Amino acid sequence: MIHQPPAGHGPEPGAEGPKPFFAALAAEGLALFLFIPLVLFLFLRQPLGPGWSVATGLAVMFGHRFVAGPWAAKFADARCLWCGRVGAAKAVEVLSGGRTWSMRACSAAHAARARRFLGFVSRFRLPIALGIFVPLAWLVAASFAAAFGHPLLPHPVNALAFRVVVAATVVVTSLAPLVPSAGAEAAVPARCPFPIHNLVLLGIGNTMWVFRVVGAWWLIDAWLRL
Ligand SMILES: [Zn+2]
Repeated sequence: MIHQPPAGHGPEPGAEGPKPFFAALAAEGLALFLFIPLVLFLFLRQPLGPGWSVATGLAVMFGHRFVAGPWAAKFADARCLWCGRVGAAKAVEVLSGGRTWSMRACSAAHAARARRFLGFVSRFRLPIALGIFVPLAWLVAASFAAAFGHPLLPHPVNALAFRVVVAATVVVTSLAPLVPSAGAEAAVPARCPFPIHNLVLLGIGNTMWVFRVVGAWWLIDAWLRL
């Protein structure tokens, strides 16, 4: 699936041109992103039963970074971290996972939005982390408890609680780049307290749209179940 980019991370003159290269990278990013809904499907629908579904989901989750991380790093200096467009030239330094990522944005506006988003998730990393990892930990623990014959709560209750808390968290987070904040254009490197490779597979801006749409759907679905 991973292909070699043309020399210099740009299209060769007279060769494929920028569009096929962009399309190939966008397809690869999408394919890598789709592992995230696959994990959610395994956790929430549990087609293999609670134990094996969650164990498989965890294995995919932890294995995913070893493919998606290097892929994101390989194209970090070629793609816009906000929209994923190839040929982005504006430098945006991001500190994440103990290293500095030399990333790019295709315009000052996209660089500012990415910085604003990263500033928000850095400032509110604790509530965001709690809003994602507490329901995840509960769902994993409850599923293994059920697999070993000691169910804590019925799975539909656990799944609904997971969807409501995670959806509320990601919808609020996804609206952060829309709120103006001082210092978004600061020269200091932006920080990302979460694995940045998951955000750049589609570009942060596109990922936020997925968060808004799926999050809103989960919240409306939960409301209709009341
Ligand atoms: Zn862009």
